[in-house]
Amino acid sequence: MFRMNRAMHKAIVQKGNVMTEEDARGRTPQNESDAGVVFANVTKSYGDREVLHSFNLSIGQGEMVCLLGPSGCGKSTALRCLAGFELISGGDITIGGRSITRQPPRKRGIGMVFQHYSLFPTMTVRDNVAFGLKVSRVGKDERNRRALKMLERVGLAEYADVFPNRLSGGQQQRVALARALVTNPRVLLLDEPLSALDAKIRVQLRDEIRLLQQQLGITAIFVTHDQEEALAVADRIAIMHDGAIEQIGRPQDLYEMPATAFVADFVGQSSVVETVVAADGTVRVCGQTLPLLVHLPAKTLVKVFIRPENVVFTESPDGECTVESASYLGSFTRTTAVADGVRITSQHAPGNNIDKGRKVHVSIRPEPVMAERIELRWAQDARTVKGDGDNGA
Ligand code: ADP
Ligand code: MG
Repeated sequence: MFRMNRAMHKAIVQKGNVMTEEDARGRTPQNESDAGVVFANVTKSYGDREVLHSFNLSIGQGEMVCLLGPSGCGKSTALRCLAGFELISGGDITIGGRSITRQPPRKRGIGMVFQHYSLFPTMTVRDNVAFGLKVSRVGKDERNRRALKMLERVGLAEYADVFPNRLSGGQQQRVALARALVTNPRVLLLDEPLSALDAKIRVQLRDEIRLLQQQLGITAIFVTHDQEEALAVADRIAIMHDGAIEQIGRPQDLYEMPATAFVADFVGQSSVVETVVAADGTVRVCGQTLPLLVHLPAKTLVKVFIRPENVVFTESPDGECTVESASYLGSFTRTTAVADGVRITSQHAPGNNIDKGRKVHVSIRPEPVMAERIELRWAQDARTVKGDGDNGA
């Protein structure tokens, strides 16, 4: 990969216009250099509380991985450890095969975008973008040229001389993106970059970020708690749960073949139905036989996760379920029906509505479903058996 030593850097900077660091880098296409990132058994504790436990993640050069998980599971901590804002408590982090855990943040070659754009209000857009270059002592003409070029890439060149408060939230986040990229980082980190924006801008900007990341061929980690966002932008998604990675895979693999119940529940919508494993390892739900993604012994009490697109309701007076609600969601409708103890949702074209209170037959496409064992525990009076997670209502 291309690395610039101090002397080269000095020569380039001193020569001013002869060859810039960016031009020099340009001779080695970025996607041929290796800026893959590896977290190997990383732990991070605050006091005696460990918030990353044996965190392992390997990201290829030029790949965009989404870290997806509920609030508080350690996503930002993982990014901060990579950026060098936090010291790790154990393990190692490498970029391009070299350990960076002892390097100060500015030596790691990382650009970062946060949820809050945190632009300097008293600096013009151009100066905001050029700030990192100024810190690295790049000359004024050179940094202005590069800042403008990056502003062109994010479609904001015409705003170079205004102050950030003139811009919308989406535009300010584009400036933050330009600021993160102008120093030619090896790795781009985005920590919930779209969470403060309106839904429409969110979709637009996420597509722009993805396009730019692909054009630049830059290795990127995109943190979000929004599964739709993750499914839309990522090459691979790492599902995080309680300080560790539960599963990593391509979006469709996570959706179709979740490795754990947490992943099945967290990615996409599911109806959760309690049932018992049959002798042949399948389960029966609403009279249908469904294969399982995991092997569990016969008679195990389980929760299974059923995708709404695999469920079809047919209206019939002797149907086993009753329609409880329907939500129109634009391009599709979700209808939920109940029978004793079972609540199941179907996703279908908006035309085929069935009114509330009508009886329906349920048919479920026999796709393999994820199942989680329900741990039985004796209630205090030792007479009733409750499923785990049941609050005893
Ligand atoms: P996420 O980004 O997934 O929402 P964080 O990485 O911010 O989660 O936090 C993970 C856990 O670490 C949380 O329980 C949080 O309270 C804790 N935590 C984060 N930063 C600190 C800190 N500086 N000191 C103590 N605990 C922290
Ligand atoms: Mg966070």
